[in-house]
Amino acid sequence: MGQGLSAWGRLLSALFHSRCQLCRARVDDALQGPLCAACEAELPALAGALCPRCSLPLKLGQACRDCRRLAPSFGAAVAGAAYGGAWRSLIKAYKFQGHRSLRRALGRRLAVASRAAGWPLQAQAVVPVPCGRARLALRGYDPALDLARSLAQDLGLPCQPGLLARRRAGRRQGRLSRKARLAAPALAFSASLPPALCGARLLLVDDILTTGATADACSRALLEAGAGSVQVAVLARSL
Ligand SMILES: [Zn+2]
Ligand SMILES: [Zn+2]
Repeated sequence: MGQGLSAWGRLLSALFHSRCQLCRARVDDALQGPLCAACEAELPALAGALCPRCSLPLKLGQACRDCRRLAPSFGAAVAGAAYGGAWRSLIKAYKFQGHRSLRRALGRRLAVASRAAGWPLQAQAVVPVPCGRARLALRGYDPALDLARSLAQDLGLPCQPGLLARRRAGRRQGRLSRKARLAAPALAFSASLPPALCGARLLLVDDILTTGATADACSRALLEAGAGSVQVAVLARSL
């Protein structure tokens, strides 16, 4: 009987308390996010002045050099944290190691960042960056789509995964310069909007913002298809 109770207790605990995704400590507040307070304090913070367009940390509170030279088509980007340390490990586990269940916790953190930017009030729909078919087949799930669904649920907004499509398999961009990356993906996405979303404010979701070229190409396609404005929410900003 005692053993039965403790098994029952363990089940209840598993149902009603989540565990820190890094140190497995109990996180009593289910809304707190993927990490306990101690691990969260260790995350690489995006602190101080950030570029208002792409969230790159800056010394001055104006747009960064890249955004001044070639402004992105999206209005602004917000990130859950800088890309590094434990946050990088979590994102890799989610994207590449099959830890699909992290979508709830990661989406929650993105919701916190989006709320801090005031975006739920402005946005009318959440749109994920579409995943290539080859990668989808490889992973069995689409990390950006799952994340967008999770974020949309937290923000009380509809998720609209069908608006964007990849036009062709994008070239691996790891070795291209920023200029080449900004030029290359222009053909990679097409968008179509239902009449109800013409002029709408959209919240585009991706995992990592590096040069911003993918977000820029998606945003441009959405604007050309009739969206009113596009803001971007990413799990991490690479520095
Ligand atoms: Zn922890
Ligand atoms: Zn910038």
